[in-house]
Order: sequence, then structure tokens, then C-alpha cells
Amino acid sequence: MFDVIVIGGGAAGFYTAIHIAEAKPHLKIAILERGKDVLGKVKVSGGGRCNVTHAEFDPRELTKNYPRGEKELLGPFHTYCSGDTVGFFEERGITLKIESDGRMFPESDSSQTIIDCFLGEADRLGIKILKHSAVTEIESISLEANKEGWKITTIKHVYECEKVVVATGSSPKIWKLLEKLGHSMVSAVPSLFTFNCKDERISGIPGVSTVAQVEVFEKQVYQSKVTTKLKSVNSKSALLTSDGPLLVTHWGLSGPAILKLSAWGARLLSDMNYRFKIRVNWLPEYSFEGLMGLFSEIKEIEAKKTVLRTKAVEVPRRLWINLVKASTISETHKWAEVTKVQLEKLARQLTECELKIDGKSTFKEEFVTAGGIDLKEINFKTYESKKLPGMYFAGEVIDVDAITGGFNFQNAWTGGYIVAQAIANSF
Ligand SMILES: Cc1cc2nc3c(=O)[nH]c(=O)nc-3n(C[C@H](O)[C@H](O)[C@H](O)COP(=O)(O)OP(=O)(O)OC[C@H]3O[C@@H](n4cnc5c(N)ncnc54)[C@H](O)[C@@H]3O)c2cc1C
Repeated sequence: MFDVIVIGGGAAGFYTAIHIAEAKPHLKIAILERGKDVLGKVKVSGGGRCNVTHAEFDPRELTKNYPRGEKELLGPFHTYCSGDTVGFFEERGITLKIESDGRMFPESDSSQTIIDCFLGEADRLGIKILKHSAVTEIESISLEANKEGWKITTIKHVYECEKVVVATGSSPKIWKLLEKLGHSMVSAVPSLFTFNCKDERISGIPGVSTVAQVEVFEKQVYQSKVTTKLKSVNSKSALLTSDGPLLVTHWGLSGPAILKLSAWGARLLSDMNYRFKIRVNWLPEYSFEGLMGLFSEIKEIEAKKTVLRTKAVEVPRRLWINLVKASTISETHKWAEVTKVQLEKLARQLTECELKIDGKSTFKEEFVTAGGIDLKEINFKTYESKKLPGMYFAGEVIDVDAITGGFNFQNAWTGGYIVAQAIANSF
């Protein structure tokens, strides 16, 4: 018999168990992990470096990075925020460094540092780690002295405990068990992915990166039979918009501008089966009209130079060459020779470049699943189930997810800490 069983030996599970044990050292705590190893995702996270959290220390600002959970996390972040995470690791001798984009990593640049810290703490605090213990059943039971508790069945043993924490991430089997117990689960869809796109304008230039604005449109918008395609697009407003660094890859497009769209549009893009259109403004500071004005000046100033070799605007050279070619301007065309129609084409390519997206690819540094326990069914002051008293949740099992940057782990740390305080106070 344990006082507390934590199901799931991932980031959220360990953080919860460690904080319960710190607050109430006499409690008997176990972590049940289905795999042969714990903390598997921590190991591979951030490309093996573990992007532990983000240097955003204001709770409200921090919530803005969560497409699902923005409203619900405000209170929890006031209780436990990224600064507290930094403090937790610092107290244990681990300094987190801040990169220029705000991501925070252990100074060692190795996720093993975080794993060693958790394993060391679990050992010091006497937390039992039971591996190869996939949970197959969770039942509410009555314990001695009229107490309510839980019977947890694994493939090997049956355990009993007073409080249970579910920290199993996006495990479909556990989602089914929770549904059977009366919880509503929001269906899973991927979040944080890159866009597949085969198009001559971005082919042969992987690695090219620039700040751009990207808008998402339904595929059908472009399929209408109107002759001026762009008019049809302009007449509909974009479903989603984002801006930031955009990276051309071998398969299509990536970078923060795309990852933000994939997170905020996780459900919408899934509904469209990852087939849609985007319009990229490679020069967000210019509109089509503004750029035409600039081009007429350049036509005068650079009259004798070729368009291909005289890059008029701040875009990467290789991209400029592709876009010039796509505007039917030849390699030898001089600025003085290009027609108004050709210049309009080039201005459109630069400010309203339409690309067809056909599928998605995994973003290797970090990928998460949107979906999980319906947020309405959790008390965010304690992370206890509103349906099943004595059951608590932390981490990705909840319908909370974030854009890339260390925010997903912060959700696990904050939830884990609050669950731990609530459980510790209940004993
Ligand atoms: C490749 C990759 C890189 C990432 N990098 C980052 C990053 O750098 N920064 C960031 O903030 N986020 C990152 N993320 C997201 C982050 O890893 C997750 O948000 C986080 O791990 C969620 O923690 P969790 O404890 O809720 O779930 P998990 O880490 O998934 O842990 C759940 C645990 O429960 C166990 N489990 C599942 N079912 C059962 C069962 N039936 N019985 C017993 N145990 C079970 C699993 O085996 C697992 O160990 C990354 C994700 C991936 C996939």
C-alpha cells in the first residue's frame, strides 16, 4: 500500500513525486512506469539538450504561448512560474542558461543533467520507481478507516493507494481508462510540425531563412474558377496568420512562423487534412503597392543592371533568384527592360507568394500532442479531477500544449508542483 501513486515516469510524474516527498517525507510514494526506462522524452528533448523552460517570467505573458490552456494556466503560473523552475534546478546545483530567443537549457547542454538530477532526488527522497509497470486498470475503492482510495492494476501487480496522480502524457490507453471512469477526453491531434511543400520557388534553397508573414487559407479558396486568383484570395480573410523567422527545408517550410501556425491551428489544420494554401509575405514591411513604388525607383537607378543580380530588397539572395525566375524575368533582363506586368509578378511573389501545402513533417526538436482531459473537468487550484476526487493530473495528459521554446515542460513543472502541494496538504 502506498500513500501516493504517480502513474507515468516522465517529466510531470517525477516533478510531482519529488515535490510531494519534499513536502511530506514520511509518505510512501511510487512512480509506475510502463517502459524499461524513465524520462524518455526528457532524454531526447531539445535535440538532446532539454529546453527546460523559457525566460518569460511574467505569468500573463507566459500564458500567451499556450494555444490550449492560455486561460486556465494564468492562476497556476501565479503560483509556480518559470522563475521557480530556475530556482528548483539552481538549488540542486544546475544552472540554466538563456539563449538569445529566450529558451533555457542546462549549462551542460545535456538532457542527462536533468535526468541525473531527478533520479538523484528520487533516490534521496525514497521514491520507489517501478519500471515495466504499465497500468491497465484504475478503480476507486474504499480503504480502511472509511477512507477513499484507488486500486491500480499493472501488467505485473495490483497496488493500492490513497491518492493517484495521472501523468502519462498522451497515452491512448490511459485516455481510454479515464474515459471509462467518466472523464471527457478531447481527441488527440499533432501540434508543432512543419509544412510539406513542393514548389520551384522554394526548391534547391534549403537553409534559407528570413523573417516573413504567413497566412493560411482554405484550399477551396484557390480552387474557385475566377481568373484573377489573387482577387479570390484577397476577398477571403486568412484563417490564421503568424510572423517570425521562416526557414526553407528540403521538404518545405519550418521555423517559428510555421511552428506557431501548427500549434495554434493544430485542430483546424488536422480538419483540413494538412492540405491548404498559404500566402507568404517575404517582406512583411512592404505591401504589394509599396513594393511597386520602390521598383519604379529602382528601375531608374539600376536601369542598366540585371534584375537577377541586383537584389532590390532585403531577402536572401537564393530566394530572390527563385522569385525573379518565377516572375518570367530572364537572367539577362535589365531593370530598364522589364515590363510593368513582370514587375507586378515579382512584387506579388515577394509580398503575396501563394504556396500549396501538402502534408506535414515532424519537427525533430520537439513535438507534442494537442488534446487530453477536458480542461473544464479539472480544478486548476489543485489539478484535482472535478469528477473523481483523489485523482490528480499533471503534464501533457491534460488538454494543454504550447508552442516550441520550453513551454511544454513548464506546463509539466507547474502542474506537478501544484498537484504536489495539494496532495501534501491533504495528508
Ligand atoms: C522529441 C521531443 C522533444 C521535445 N523537446 C522539448 C523541449 O525541449 N522543451 C519542452 O518544453 N518540451 C519538449 N517536448 C515536449 C515535452 O517532452 C512534453 O511536453 C513532456 O515530456 C510532457 O511530460 P509528461 O510527463 O506529461 O509526459 P511524458 O514525458 O510523455 O511522460 C509520460 C510517461 O508516462 C508513461 N506511461 C504512459 N502510459 C503509461 C501506462 N499505461 N502505465 C505506466 N506508465 C505509462 C510513459 O512511458 C512516459 O514515461 C519534446 C517532445 C518530444 C517528443
